[in-house]
Amino acid sequence: MEHSQPAKGEVCLSSMRLGTPETVRPAAAGPVADVLVLGAGVIGVTTAYALARKGLSVVLVDQADGPGQGTSFANGAQLSYAYTDALAQPGLLKRIPALVAGMDPAFRVRLSPDPAFLRWGLAFLRNCSQARFRANTLATLELALESQAAMAELRNRHPFDFGHATPGKLHVFRDVASLDHARAVAVIKQRTGIEQHLLTPGQAIDREPALAGTGAFAGALWTPGEEVGDPYRFCLALLDILERDYAVRAQFGFPVARLQADGEYAHALRSDGEVISGRCAVVCLGADAARFLTPLGLRVPIRPMKGYSFTAPVGAQAPSISVTDTARKIVFCRLGGTLRVAGLAELGRSDRVVEPGRLRTLVDGARAALPAAADYAAAGDGWAGLRPMTPDSRPIIRQVRQRLFLNVGHGMLGWTFAAGAAQRIATLVAATQAAASSS
Ligand SMILES: Cc1cc2nc3c(=O)[nH]c(=O)nc-3n(C[C@H](O)[C@H](O)[C@H](O)COP(=O)(O)OP(=O)(O)OC[C@H]3O[C@@H](n4cnc5c(N)ncnc54)[C@H](O)[C@@H]3O)c2cc1C
Repeated sequence: MEHSQPAKGEVCLSSMRLGTPETVRPAAAGPVADVLVLGAGVIGVTTAYALARKGLSVVLVDQADGPGQGTSFANGAQLSYAYTDALAQPGLLKRIPALVAGMDPAFRVRLSPDPAFLRWGLAFLRNCSQARFRANTLATLELALESQAAMAELRNRHPFDFGHATPGKLHVFRDVASLDHARAVAVIKQRTGIEQHLLTPGQAIDREPALAGTGAFAGALWTPGEEVGDPYRFCLALLDILERDYAVRAQFGFPVARLQADGEYAHALRSDGEVISGRCAVVCLGADAARFLTPLGLRVPIRPMKGYSFTAPVGAQAPSISVTDTARKIVFCRLGGTLRVAGLAELGRSDRVVEPGRLRTLVDGARAALPAAADYAAAGDGWAGLRPMTPDSRPIIRQVRQRLFLNVGHGMLGWTFAAGAAQRIATLVAATQAAASSS
């Protein structure tokens, strides 16, 4: 896959006419950085790293007081390099009325008259064909495999601890139809050389004894190469390395109110007029990207999809392998002495509030799936984040103006895609800057 290319007629990045921008000059005395990276989640910190590895000077900017405090904070922790299945798929179409009616506790769609929501929804529906599902899944699989290699290289070069492990992953299917679908998708992916095996319930329990308590299921898909890691710890540790070894400057507590990227420089402006400048900017603002880019005349097809997680002490029968209960859409992942449990999908919600009732739905679902996996009574307050979803589940990694690049829309798999997406955008930025300096 090159960069996410909308199909003909699909909602896409488009320019809108703008008024004449006022002139902004770099505020800081001294050299202007080659690149401003806006957003310090997993996408922003890996982008800063990939740019710095190419010898470019980088300033990393975020509104929060440290890295990884947005959706990257407490996600499912899965580095799901083989399971990149696009959300839009034929089987979902007939379930949409039930999702809108709130009949599936794990997946809800709240309709909105917002034209951006309607455009996104129509593009999503167009991606529900078998052909698009296949193309989108293979395209993101290619990115994921690049990401796996890039992450391995990063870990070799900088062996810091972020709870990384390769426990493999078991997707558990409750009914024969969903197992058959998984078998068909596994066949599509086989040409990439990834290793996946379909297991009977007995074989799955032999591999992961914690599944003995999960009730009847039809079978499981075993992917031995799947990895895990704590994204927040990763962001903190990588930032240390960026500052120490690559002279990356981090500017936290800087909510960018406006970006101006059509003159000689890219300027990130705070509402009080404070400005940070670079020769170009890469936007890595996750679920906030669409709102942020609209005033620039850029319409990006990203909608938030809210999800929840909690982290509890491991129980008497905690899985050591990552487990996904596909019917309940819950992932279980061991992080040291704790179990991270993530799930729920709510399209049409853009707040990050942890609603007690929804958290209870997740805890109850997890308890029903793996009763002794965690000390569920100690699940705590939980966490909610917004997945930055595109209609085709492909991230948007591209140049949109001479001095403006996007690395956004990584959806359900931003942690998985981060290192590969960072390499792609850094290659593009470096080539553009090299061409500019030689002309
Ligand atoms: C419940 C849940 C479970 C998930 N599980 C997994 C998983 O297991 N594996 C996986 O691969 N992915 C998972 N994901 C998806 C993954 O977490 C996201 O795709 C990823 O975190 C997106 O990273 P990001 O850096 O783009 O966004 P963010 O982490 O949200 O970073 C964006 C940053 O931009 C900053 N920002 C926003 N606006 C401004 C502004 N105006 N000025 C300055 N800064 C600004 C924010 O403060 C934030 O730090 C999950 C998501 C959820 C919600």
